[in-house]
Amino acid sequence: MATKATSKPKPKRKAAIKRKSPRTQLAEYRRKRDFSRTAEPEGTATPAAGPELAFVIQKHAASRLHFDLRLELDGTMKSWAVPKGPSLDPSVKRLAMQVEDHPIEYNQFEGTIPAAEYGGGTVMLWDRGTYTCPEPVPDPQALLREGYRNGDLKFELRGRRLRGSWVLVRIKRGDPAKPQWLLIKHRDKFARPGADIVATELTSVATGRTMQAIARGR
Ligand code: MN
Repeated sequence: MATKATSKPKPKRKAAIKRKSPRTQLAEYRRKRDFSRTAEPEGTATPAAGPELAFVIQKHAASRLHFDLRLELDGTMKSWAVPKGPSLDPSVKRLAMQVEDHPIEYNQFEGTIPAAEYGGGTVMLWDRGTYTCPEPVPDPQALLREGYRNGDLKFELRGRRLRGSWVLVRIKRGDPAKPQWLLIKHRDKFARPGADIVATELTSVATGRTMQAIARGR
């Protein structure tokens, strides 16, 4: 029978990587916004972690038009601003600038942020659904977390417009606090060489509205 070993010094446990709580992760998000002026969610609710991880892409006509890709991980939405939006063409690499984590409630947000506020402009729910890691593993979130940390995040989207296997690759340039990544479609049955999906899909997946209709508040 094994007894508690006292003679042998225990090997030092690898220091567990501390995961920040969603509240801490959202500090920058909250600091940038005045919730008495913007209709964006404060992110105070802590939604129960579902069996599936959420993803959303919002088209955002801020000072510059861009698409915000958000992937749920450990209680918040990891977020990237993709100036040109996603491409279904595997030969196309799209710059994705990491921005502050957003609350999971942000996945419901469509509307207009007042012009004077942070991110002022119209926001459209351009695509949404769930995502996972491309390989069947017992703990998909652990593999996704590792990919995110290592700057090589492979994931599979199950959205209305975006499906199949993708990768976000962190590239070594820019401000270390604001890492830059590349968003690339893998070759699979959902790839569409030569396609320009952001030019052909111009309405909200939630309400069917155009950017103009959202801006008018209808
Ligand atoms: Mn944005």
